[in-house]
Amino acid sequence: MSEKKSKADEGTTQGFATRAIHAGYEPNAENGAVNVPIYASSTFQQDGVGGMRSGYEYARTGNPTRTALEGNLAALEGGSYGRAFSSGMAATDCALRSMLRPGDHLVIPNDAYGGTFRLIDKVFSQWGLTYTPAAVNDLDAIKAAVTPATKAIWIETPTNPLLNVGDIAAISEIAHGAQAKLVVDNTFASPYLQQPLALGADVVLHSTTKYIGGHSDVVGGVLVTDDEELDAAFAFLQNGAGGVPGPFDAYLTLRGAKTLAVRMDKHCDNAEAIVDMLVGHPAIDSVLYPGLDGHPGHEVATKQMSRFGGMISVRLKGGKQAALDMCARAELFTLAESLGGIESLIEHPGAMTHASTAGSLLEVPDDLVRLSVGIEDIADLIGDLEQALS
Ligand SMILES: *Cc1c(COP(=O)(O)O)cnc(C)c1O
Repeated sequence: MSEKKSKADEGTTQGFATRAIHAGYEPNAENGAVNVPIYASSTFQQDGVGGMRSGYEYARTGNPTRTALEGNLAALEGGSYGRAFSSGMAATDCALRSMLRPGDHLVIPNDAYGGTFRLIDKVFSQWGLTYTPAAVNDLDAIKAAVTPATKAIWIETPTNPLLNVGDIAAISEIAHGAQAKLVVDNTFASPYLQQPLALGADVVLHSTTKYIGGHSDVVGGVLVTDDEELDAAFAFLQNGAGGVPGPFDAYLTLRGAKTLAVRMDKHCDNAEAIVDMLVGHPAIDSVLYPGLDGHPGHEVATKQMSRFGGMISVRLKGGKQAALDMCARAELFTLAESLGGIESLIEHPGAMTHASTAGSLLEVPDDLVRLSVGIEDIADLIGDLEQALS
């Protein structure tokens, strides 16, 4: 039972890296296991009819390995409650269905993650949900998009793949002024760089597949909130619809989370050096990175992020063909979807991650290349990009 006690519950003032390593689990009282075991058990013995021995009965409802992960991620976001899912999209689906009903309206980024847009546009639209895309960096556009039926504003910041920055505190005021909730998809920043709940968000969502897992070896998602009622709704649907991670997935994700602080600093160091190399490169038309002075979201990013992350997008002077050529020539930067892992990845959003936005308001430029900067040696990464652009 010691596994269930979360340090997040103790009103800790511990630092981020300490919480990353310790929150959610204390060494097992019986055998001292320092790491949470992978509880490969789908069901748990009862003390009598209706008498739960351990707080667990069936692993869709709860599993101790998952509980450890949920406590850890809640603590990393500074939130009271965490619910883990089998993917970021399962978490997205749970949040949307818990918070919205037919006839409700939501505001989404006009450059939302392709999978989020596809779920809302292709599935939830059929169930009577309406949405309006608005630029996350345009507060007037967000205000104008809100209607009397708006129940949620959904943002990412920085956005994927254009790295636009939304002012979380200002957008939470818009949402709350309209009796709507603010959901922040914090996948790109990770809780190490940005803490949306402290800035007024009601729910934080992660694809833990990305920086939190960090090793490109497991798919998962999480919802964190301080709102007891929302958490109860998430828990109901987590169990009711069952998009839960298995104990091995929960274990891997937690193992990744423990090193988030050191990994993120290295991702940021490497990204900053690569941005320096790309700015002014003759093949590059523009570099999209919130850490750049000239980036339209730089001031807001400086206010709400501790550093600017490991994601960089570039637009190429030579258009679509030059973008495709860069992707084809890169060697150390592996051509692959996804992001946030220790290995550097390169991709063409228009043809890959964001292909589902083609022809819509959310269509991304075809001269765009997205880099997920890993934690390899910086000289090797720069060498690879130089040859890919030559
Ligand atoms: C990857 C991603 C998702 C979806 O998460 P999965 O784990 O792939 O289901 C949602 N939002 C953002 C910003 C993402 O990058």
